[in-house]
Amino acid sequence: MDRYSQIDNKNQREIVLLKGFPCIWGKCSFCDYIEDNSTLEYEMNKLNFDVLKNITGKYKVLEVINSGSCFELPKATLEKIKEIIKEKKIEKLFLESHWCYKNRLKEMRDYFEIPIVFKIGVESFDYDFRNKFLNKNAKFKTPEDVKKYFDSPCMMVGIKGQTKEMIDKDMEIVLKYFNHATINIFINNTTKLERDDSLVAWFKEKYEFLNNNENIEVLYNNTDFGVGD
Ligand code: SF4
Repeated sequence: MDRYSQIDNKNQREIVLLKGFPCIWGKCSFCDYIEDNSTLEYEMNKLNFDVLKNITGKYKVLEVINSGSCFELPKATLEKIKEIIKEKKIEKLFLESHWCYKNRLKEMRDYFEIPIVFKIGVESFDYDFRNKFLNKNAKFKTPEDVKKYFDSPCMMVGIKGQTKEMIDKDMEIVLKYFNHATINIFINNTTKLERDDSLVAWFKEKYEFLNNNENIEVLYNNTDFGVGD
């Protein structure tokens, strides 16, 4: 599995996919990447340190992801990230967190002492689709609720059961409320959820203009950031 990459087009940055403790929720119906979670702290830190060695500071921007929230990274890994931020003069960090940690984001902002772009897996602003169908357990009501805490929503597109109307509404909200967002096109995985190819084809055509929007990153494959498998 690739765990280090450089994103050279939009929002240039280095990105690492680290190993963390089990995702606090772990029950989203579309997610099988929690299989990367571990409870073996020593092994996790060893692997994470090896991955972090790749960071050069080339873009002064770093994104750290794990299959869960940044709060699930081992303490020694967080310390190593902080050390590297200082050493490589990183000026901005992208981190990701589930909605349930919304009241703890400041801990990370204070700890790393550099601006953090906090991503959140929103998947959809449609309450029922998000919480009942995708079982996301992110029970906010409005985009303003999200924006109060987070900087950048990650959206999901192309699952059977999702509608064009839901996606139109989601894209409208993303463009209206947020300065940055990631759109993940669903790829079939080991879960029971299925990709809707006709919905994906419709989205690609209708929302092609997003490819030219510097602040919206559309991932047509879940390895488009160069990490994962
Ligand atoms: S919160 Fe994220 S990592 Fe956890 S189960 Fe849901 S999608 Fe997977």
